[in-house]
Amino acid sequence: MDISHIEHIGIAVSSLEEAIRIYERVLGLKCYNIEEVSDQKVRTAFFMVGQTKLELLESTDPDGPIAKFIDRKGEGIHHIAFAVQNIEERLKVAEINGIKLIDPIPRRGAEGLDIAFLHPKSTSGVLIEFCEDRRGH
Ligand code: ZN
Repeated sequence: MDISHIEHIGIAVSSLEEAIRIYERVLGLKCYNIEEVSDQKVRTAFFMVGQTKLELLESTDPDGPIAKFIDRKGEGIHHIAFAVQNIEERLKVAEINGIKLIDPIPRRGAEGLDIAFLHPKSTSGVLIEFCEDRRGH
């Protein structure tokens, strides 16, 4: 099987600082990285839970995708990212199965991973991300 685990869960938040405080104080997790991804107009904060991460996403632009998501649906779970071994192959399989691809070609995401999103309209409403870690390969 090509998908090994849930790499991370992306959560849209209005205030990164506020959300970090909740995850640290209430859940006892430790934020280990804050990174701005200008390509996606977000600031991200990462927590490790087992081998899965939580990725908090705060918009850096009122017209960015996370700002629009929060306008439409409010704060909350934004996407689920699966760790894959061959992202191009996964995208091909998705496309063959009639899934609309947001990223037909993988791009560079946070933490240096290669990522690609599938359109939630063709995946029962869940924004699915594929992540492949090719660093050190
Ligand atoms: Zn993500």
